Amino acid sequence: MRQTERTAIVLRYANYRDNDRMLTLFSPTQGRIEALSRGCRKPRSPILNASEMFALGDFELYQKGAHLTIVSANLIETFYPLRQDFDRLAVGTYLLGVTEGFIQPGSPAQELFMLLLHTLSRLTFTDQPWRPLVAGFLLHLSDCEGFRPRLKHCVHCGKPLTETESTWFDHQEGGLVCRDCHLQSHTPVSAAQAHWMRSMLSAGSAAWVDTPDCTAPFSLLRKYVESRLDRPVRAADMLPEV
Ligand SMILES: [Zn+2]
Repeated sequence: MRQTERTAIVLRYANYRDNDRMLTLFSPTQGRIEALSRGCRKPRSPILNASEMFALGDFELYQKGAHLTIVSANLIETFYPLRQDFDRLAVGTYLLGVTEGFIQPGSPAQELFMLLLHTLSRLTFTDQPWRPLVAGFLLHLSDCEGFRPRLKHCVHCGKPLTETESTWFDHQEGGLVCRDCHLQSHTPVSAAQAHWMRSMLSAGSAAWVDTPDCTAPFSLLRKYVESRLDRPVRAADMLPEV
């Protein structure tokens, strides 16, 4: 039996018994954590707000055997305005779902944690269009998780690619393909889209600038990232029509 404090964000919950919830938390130092929020659905429970999706806080956890129970929580941010915009709420839920697909219990994921918080903040507190924002999230996630796409040379023949040429994307090889090597199964990528991905990766997620909606290859990056998971992303079907 021991007590620990963890900074974490609630990715998901499942109601349990009459008044409880089982929370899936994401901690930057511990990865995925399942914890019981006991009595949180009772009226005036002090841990109800910390037991909602998107709740970011410091959670005091009590461990007995393999089971963790939340003793108390210090809320840092609720991302509340997301709940007032159905489309952005669906996008936020998708971001939590993708993140959940990549984290493991006991595996630190500091970079991914910061990327998620940064993206949720922009989604909640700015009116930046969501497609380039999510495209940037997915691209940086591929980098954090070790499958950053190769964008400077053709992944088949190794030829350097120029900034102005049209290219194609090979999802299996994870990168761009030149005109000579492309197959029908590869996805066309405009010079502007390739440029966007290269500058996104070199600038880092903190340096995002507003991008015209059409330039960010949202559908391509979504397919690329989701293909690395062995099950569909929760809430993917809630995303607004693209
Ligand atoms: Zn080639």
